Amino acid sequence: MQDTQSLHWQKVREQGRWHSIALVGALGWGGSFCVVFAGFELWTGAARAFLPAALNAAPLGLIAGAIYGWSRWGYAQWCGVCERRSQAEDQDNDEPKRNKMTLPPQGARPGRVILPPAMLGILGGGQLGRMFAAAAKAMGYRVTVLDPDVHAPAADFADVHLCKPFTDPEALAELARTCAAVTTEFENVSAESMRWLAAQGIPVSPSGDCVAIAQDRIAEKTFIRNAGLSVAPFLAVNTAADLEGNLSAYLPGILKTARLGYDGKGQVRVKTAEEVRLALADFKHQPCVLEKMLPLKCEVSAIVARTENGEIAGFPVSENEHPTGILDVSIVPARVPADVAEQAQAMAQQLAAALGYVGVLAVEMFVLDDDSLVINEIAPRPHNSGHYTLDATLTSQFEQQVRTMCGLTPGQPDLVSPVVMVNLLGDSWGMDGSEPNWAPLMATPNAKLHLYGKREARPGRKMGHYNVLAKTADQALEQARAIQIAIKN
Ligand code: ADP
Ligand code: MG
Repeated sequence: MQDTQSLHWQKVREQGRWHSIALVGALGWGGSFCVVFAGFELWTGAARAFLPAALNAAPLGLIAGAIYGWSRWGYAQWCGVCERRSQAEDQDNDEPKRNKMTLPPQGARPGRVILPPAMLGILGGGQLGRMFAAAAKAMGYRVTVLDPDVHAPAADFADVHLCKPFTDPEALAELARTCAAVTTEFENVSAESMRWLAAQGIPVSPSGDCVAIAQDRIAEKTFIRNAGLSVAPFLAVNTAADLEGNLSAYLPGILKTARLGYDGKGQVRVKTAEEVRLALADFKHQPCVLEKMLPLKCEVSAIVARTENGEIAGFPVSENEHPTGILDVSIVPARVPADVAEQAQAMAQQLAAALGYVGVLAVEMFVLDDDSLVINEIAPRPHNSGHYTLDATLTSQFEQQVRTMCGLTPGQPDLVSPVVMVNLLGDSWGMDGSEPNWAPLMATPNAKLHLYGKREARPGRKMGHYNVLAKTADQALEQARAIQIAIKN
């Protein structure tokens, strides 16, 4: 990605500002020559000669002004090159600090940061956009949300809601014109829209290229494997012909659509080659991955925030349970050996660096029976399993999203208390849409409720979550489970 300084100079060149410098300089010098000559002619009493003398002087003045203007531009550009060079040197000096879980305060570099009350743009107005907007507003930024849904949850917190499709050219132009930086809340946003915004010269994080990788399981798993990190054995299935060989290395397995799968949707478990072929036909022969079913001890996720300078801050690893394919609870700290948690964090940081990632990156992993780690998938945004950070870490994942897009150093990710996050799905609402019984949750002083303002509850729909903070993760889990039963309508 281009650095801010070169973007600045690209803008200067694109906007023709150096032409203006030359023109203003030329006019200024030309005017000054006229005045000086006119004064001289008047003083010597030859007022009649004023006009021809001024006309003679003007071209000289214009040439001198142009030289002056162009030399100013050349000098300024030379300064820009020096600035870029010193930033690169600074980055090299920062290298040893990058792998630390908690970074020392480093102060953002002047000229590279976006400060409040700048307008920040986000593609997508779901619950992640809503929590991003809340964090940005709390920090004094203004927020523009692009989402075609009139009732987008993020609209409640946004200053501007562009109620248009994500590829709408006018809406994208409006974002480019009014926002200091743009981010996204979901991976299925058009990577092309993000690339277009970046081409307009505004910082876009994560990059369209990173989003494109996360959108496609084939590209994603291939990238992770090429980065030297472990993934489940998989076969890219672009057409039925890819299934003609021996599939035993991937069976029993899961056939997953390459694109648009989430919360267990777009995947089916398969035991035989025949079942794989039938499943592919059910998916209308769209590109898929066939992945070997692995013996999972548990699932964890590591979420990191990375800046353009390569500064990185990792949140404590969370242990996640998905009994029905949808995340149910996240337990932090994860109940895995310390070295496994450290390795999970190191793998997430290695992947973020390999992607040249800017923003918040969530990395879902499997812990296998032998405690080895395998990366399952990535999300180029804050993640459901990181919602515990709203109440239990010094900085939330949404504040990190704001900070990274604004070129600020990441906030401290340290855990303040063990915590369990429980998702509130539409299933907890009554068939008639009646609210869950909030009283037991509200009566618990160490439980924190977050609702997303969605109008309609449907089974499996994410309506909100709550965090329970306690002395140990086990205590928090016990209390969280009791609340889960007590509130069910
Ligand atoms: P989604 O995008 O729907 O979250 P995932 O690839 O994360 O898709 O799969 C959903 C869940 O299915 C995982 O959290 C895990 O519980 C299970 N799963 C997925 N792939 C495997 C696998 N290779 N082996 C065992 N379980 C898996
Ligand atoms: Mg998943």
